[in-house]
Amino acid sequence: MTEVTQDVERCSICTLPAVHPLAELDDQKVCKSCREKIVQEKKQNVFKNEEELIAALAPFKGSGRKYDVVVPLSGGVDSSFALIRIVEKFGLKPLVFHNDHGFEDSVATDNVRKLCASLDVDLLLWQHDFNFMKTLWRHLNTSNIPGASACYLCANVIYMNALELANAFDVPLLINGYSKGQAEIIEQKKRGTDILAQYLQYISKNDPEFTEEFMRRYKILGKQRIFAGVEDLEGGPTEQVLTIPFFLFSFYKTDKATLQEECRKRFDWQPMKTSYPARTTNCEMIWLNTYVDNKKFGYSVYDEEYAGMVRSGDMTADQALKDLEHTPPEGLLERLADEIGYDLNQKHSQKAG
Ligand SMILES: [Zn+2]
Repeated sequence: MTEVTQDVERCSICTLPAVHPLAELDDQKVCKSCREKIVQEKKQNVFKNEEELIAALAPFKGSGRKYDVVVPLSGGVDSSFALIRIVEKFGLKPLVFHNDHGFEDSVATDNVRKLCASLDVDLLLWQHDFNFMKTLWRHLNTSNIPGASACYLCANVIYMNALELANAFDVPLLINGYSKGQAEIIEQKKRGTDILAQYLQYISKNDPEFTEEFMRRYKILGKQRIFAGVEDLEGGPTEQVLTIPFFLFSFYKTDKATLQEECRKRFDWQPMKTSYPARTTNCEMIWLNTYVDNKKFGYSVYDEEYAGMVRSGDMTADQALKDLEHTPPEGLLERLADEIGYDLNQKHSQKAG
């Protein structure tokens, strides 16, 4: 039942699967993004180096508030590295937020506790009402929304929790350590809005009660202000929460081996027991979500994320293929499907609905 992602036809340069709507492979098996050399630089070059970024953050430092910044921390290498930098280099006082949606690897949570103790910063561990998350995943996996991944929706919920915390504790800044690829995917606003609209349509038809709860949680998005350029920092704190994706800047590389080394220099960082894509995550549910995405679309959100990292030079194509190998531990998919009430034998047509 395991999908072997290596067998799919891919861009010979960046590994993007041929079935991806943006691929449009030519005779040389090169995708559109590689032909047009889209390295997705855009805002990454707002600052020349880390020193410029740190200087620009000055209006947010020591604002008289208890905390300068909320930092979500998963316990993986990306967000751990971001937090170390924010505390030791930026000199900002963080409120650290760790999310537990019921399928976290306990090794990741241990990493979080160890790092926060070592940096001597406040940590809030938020354990969810698990049923909300299970219902969220079940509906998305059961639906047939083109290109929509349960991981994408879940990342949104975690982000909204971070916003809610920032709002509740009067913290004007939120810096998240989403990997570069994740940050870019979440940045594609139109696509996100489309997916959300279709998801809402699906749940309101099938589960009105859940829809109400879902909508209530989304209200907090009105409080966010997403970083778009230097001018967002110049004025200092406002009533809204300014969100900056840490890995958006080109001087931060997301090479996992390097990040791991950096983390280990600072504390006893331990790798998760099982992880998809390899070496990164703290979430078990990703195995099932990816299985379903591969079944529905022939690719997952991670194929897209990793192809982007190959194009921007953060990772080799060989390493990407290795990390994207989808080999779930024995019996795991069955257990997860059972937990959320998804039928592993469900057939998905590519048509929306
Ligand atoms: Zn390509």
